[in-house]
Amino acid sequence: MGGAAYQVRSIAQRALCLALVCAPLAPARADTTFPISFAVAEVDGEQVVEREWLEEQVEAAKEIFRPAGVQFVLERVRPLPAEHAMLEDRADRHALGALVERRVINCFIVASLRDVDDPRLYRRGVHWRARGHGPNNHFVIVSAVSGETVLAHELGHFFGNPHSTTAGNIMSYDRGEVPPFFDEAQQRRIALFARRFVRTRELVPVPHSLD
Ligand SMILES: [Zn+2]
Repeated sequence: MGGAAYQVRSIAQRALCLALVCAPLAPARADTTFPISFAVAEVDGEQVVEREWLEEQVEAAKEIFRPAGVQFVLERVRPLPAEHAMLEDRADRHALGALVERRVINCFIVASLRDVDDPRLYRRGVHWRARGHGPNNHFVIVSAVSGETVLAHELGHFFGNPHSTTAGNIMSYDRGEVPPFFDEAQQRRIALFARRFVRTRELVPVPHSLD
């Protein structure tokens, strides 16, 4: 045992272990940061929200997802053509599937988002699977009238979580007295989905900075 050759092999084995075995199994202790690409609707030539509004939504999501080892970065903001500004029905939502960018989380910011089950209502956000645009075509839609934690809630769906009945849980409609949170089971599910997104290259995380 010992000697340089053994050491080299050992380091190589460890590297292989990290790359092939440990990474998919270990809990996501080192944060995995996913890029979000925003497409922001324009009405009368003006985007329906400012960049600061997007940054607030991203910051809130980062805060709430941190315990799950998942983080986000605002990758880019592009205009969403005016014909997509007011989403009235399922077809309008499906149509966004043609605009999805690969390898990033797609978030569409619209002026209004009508409920498709009860058309008298408007929604603040939705996680939507588009039909007719290939596999894994899913994305988040957030209405410009939304409070700052709506993106986090919809990303919760994106990462596999259904609604919760626990007050204060970010996946609940019941706000509660505490800052919005994911419980441990939800955090594990998020970490699982994060690893799956990376493994299948549905999403490509941004490299870690060393700061
Ligand atoms: Zn929901």
